[in-house]
Amino acid sequence: MTVVPLVFFSLFASTAGLGDLKKIGILGGRVIVYYLITTAVAITIGVVLANLVKPGVGLKMAASGDVEAILGKVNKASPSLVKTLIDMVPSNPVKALAEGNMLQIIFFAVLLGVAILAVQGEKREVVITAAQGLSEAMISLVNMIMKIAPYGVFALGAGVVARHGIKVLSNLLVYSLVVVAGLLLHLILLLSLSLYGLGRIKPWEFLKKAREVMVFAFSTSSSNATLPLTMRTAEKKLGVPGYVSSFVLPLGATINMDGTALYQGVAAVFIAQAYHIPLTLSAQLKIILTATLASVGTAGVPGVGIVMLTMVLTSVGIPVEGIALILGVDRILDMLRTVVNVSGDLIASVVMSRFERE
Ligand code: ASP
Repeated sequence: MTVVPLVFFSLFASTAGLGDLKKIGILGGRVIVYYLITTAVAITIGVVLANLVKPGVGLKMAASGDVEAILGKVNKASPSLVKTLIDMVPSNPVKALAEGNMLQIIFFAVLLGVAILAVQGEKREVVITAAQGLSEAMISLVNMIMKIAPYGVFALGAGVVARHGIKVLSNLLVYSLVVVAGLLLHLILLLSLSLYGLGRIKPWEFLKKAREVMVFAFSTSSSNATLPLTMRTAEKKLGVPGYVSSFVLPLGATINMDGTALYQGVAAVFIAQAYHIPLTLSAQLKIILTATLASVGTAGVPGVGIVMLTMVLTSVGIPVEGIALILGVDRILDMLRTVVNVSGDLIASVVMSRFERE
């Protein structure tokens, strides 16, 4: 309910308020490079860990009907990079808003923010002030919703355990542990190198302020659903200026998925091991490249990681049916990787505001 209007109004208002396309251009260039680097690092960690621990060696295959359903979704959910770039331009902005197409909304909001600057006098001021007011109203709506969030978080958590059973954790234990260890390692790297090294914020201070966001990401399994809270936390608690958070965070929810990329690295190597397929160095590099690019343009919603995984597997000729092996534990791992996805976005917003000297 709050994601689309919040992203649209705040990004439009802050681009117009900034009055400078160059500034957004520089910020955009920087953050995209940053996102690609952190994603590539994440998936490298996943691939290396899975090679060291070898969780798939000696495993027997199992088939499952669910794989068909996943394969059916692949083409829709995993567009090529070129198509993603072309599709960024909405043919109808209202449709983009209605469908919650984040890249199209970002594109249109920035463009409209620049266009309004060409309008003279009072008309311009009225529109910008209204957008600022509406974006503040969305934030206060998020504040109201957050009052009942703890009950929602509790219910979502209970629902997952009731539906999947505690055994989701006991099956495939080694594989799950490798993913969890990789996620932890990546989070520690982000906190120490990016947040402290580049952003100059102490990790424990950040964790205290970001705790609410992390719990919310965990229980919803969705970077998109967490976005309003991520934006509020960046602005109100971490002091990130509005134009940085309203640009970097929605972009991050869509294109920056460190946790998901890492998990794909582990899963690809795990399935290859289960099928006794030796992966050459170049195949592993291809996995890293494909997973990094696959994370661009896929929305941060529950379960999208496993859909993108089919693309990664196909790129190096690993049988897609292998996904059946890991479906059972996917929900819990999805919750965990979403925490890392969202934390990565939040840390990026801190680092970017430091680069902006704010
Ligand atoms: N659920 C993740 C997110 O929203 C994406 C995924 O890995 O499935 O960030």
